[in-house]
Amino acid sequence: MTFNDFNFNSGLLDSLSSMGFNKPTPIQTEAIPVIMSNSDLVACAQTGTGKTAAYMLPILHKIIESNTDSLDTLVLVPTRELAIQIDQQIEGFSYFINVSSIAVYGGGDGATWDQQRKALTDGANIVIATPGRLLAQLQSGTANLKQIKHLVLDEADRMLDMGFYDDIVRVISYLPTERQTIMFSATMPTKMRALANKLMKDPQQINI
Ligand code: AMP
Repeated sequence: MTFNDFNFNSGLLDSLSSMGFNKPTPIQTEAIPVIMSNSDLVACAQTGTGKTAAYMLPILHKIIESNTDSLDTLVLVPTRELAIQIDQQIEGFSYFINVSSIAVYGGGDGATWDQQRKALTDGANIVIATPGRLLAQLQSGTANLKQIKHLVLDEADRMLDMGFYDDIVRVISYLPTERQTIMFSATMPTKMRALANKLMKDPQQINI
């Protein structure tokens, strides 16, 4: 199998070749068709398996095809390090396509808050955020998530371990109910299954 088999946009395929992505990993082979079909998904996968590309490539494809310039995708993550890492991967994937992203995380100074607020109001296509900081931006009225079509919870078990359950539920109350929801997690504790049931409609499940 190659990335051509997913019928990805040609600019996206060019970016993948330039990054040396020749062959999809097992989680990519399984998750990409599910996400392309717009179904909700719960995937059990460890870091290092290629999980970021597994959800981001089909989402990037859909953003390009829809020709949207509004905020389309929200990725919630446990840490600023992961937010920055995902933002950098998107930059690589976007080399030959026109998609913009912004990482929103706490702990910065006022300038960072203002830069993040400006990026949120100027309308990046993809926001990668830690739940607490995004919630603060939402409560101050700067971000509008009404157009979101894709919600990803990455490292969901870590977010729950870090006590983000309530913040996640509050952030999601700002999203439209009509959306695709995707959850990636290394483990599947009971609390996560409960969250998945609360947020998703008939999710497909993948275990790698
Ligand atoms: P992740 O599990 O998303 O943290 O990805 C682990 C690393 O694998 C990252 O540095 C990716 O850039 C790289 N990677 C992911 N998928 C592929 C692929 N199909 N071919 C080559 N490298 C990949």
